[in-house]
Amino acid sequence: MNILIFGPQASGKGTQAHILAGKLGLFYLSTGDLFRKLSEKDSKVKRVVEKGELPSDELAFSLLKRFIKDEHGSYQNIIFDGFPRNVNQYLMLKRWFYKNKSKIDYAILLDISDEEAIRRLSARRVCSDCKEIFNLITNPSKNPKVCDKCGGELVQREDDKPEAIEKRLSLYRNVTKPLIDVFEKEGVLKKVNGEQPIEDISRELLSFFGKQ
Ligand SMILES: [Zn+2]
Repeated sequence: MNILIFGPQASGKGTQAHILAGKLGLFYLSTGDLFRKLSEKDSKVKRVVEKGELPSDELAFSLLKRFIKDEHGSYQNIIFDGFPRNVNQYLMLKRWFYKNKSKIDYAILLDISDEEAIRRLSARRVCSDCKEIFNLITNPSKNPKVCDKCGGELVQREDDKPEAIEKRLSLYRNVTKPLIDVFEKEGVLKKVNGEQPIEDISRELLSFFGKQ
């Protein structure tokens, strides 16, 4: 079984993807981690990551294919976090799977409202020294102004201020809406309310997959 998991920033999709991977025995593939890892070895990827850009669909997909072949060696039992980002990438992945007698079984959408995403993201704090990330709501440090790890000052990043967050969310909606329509048409979409507690979301998902 292959699963795609997606949702806006702060929807908790990374957390749920890890839980599902563990319980269902899936290979967890995060494109964010993948690009960071590969940028250590590949100067082309490094340039893209350093500029804070997204790799082209072709580059992203070729890296992903190579990574799956090297690290997993199968076209089955993968959970994708952060890929595909758009319809073009989805079609590339679908064709590749089809050629290799595999398919995408489910696309899970963790849905949260813009208001909730803004609430969660504006609670994010980063250590100005060691760069550790905290969240006043979901992952607080003992003292809201001090890093638990190194004692450095916790600050809010420019791109976690409401205006920047709103911009990112509207970009996400524009790109993702057509993708959701495609998933719906193909009958693979499973939508979950991402505003529930973490345990309730994973319970709902696991029971959907027939697990406890
Ligand atoms: Zn620190």
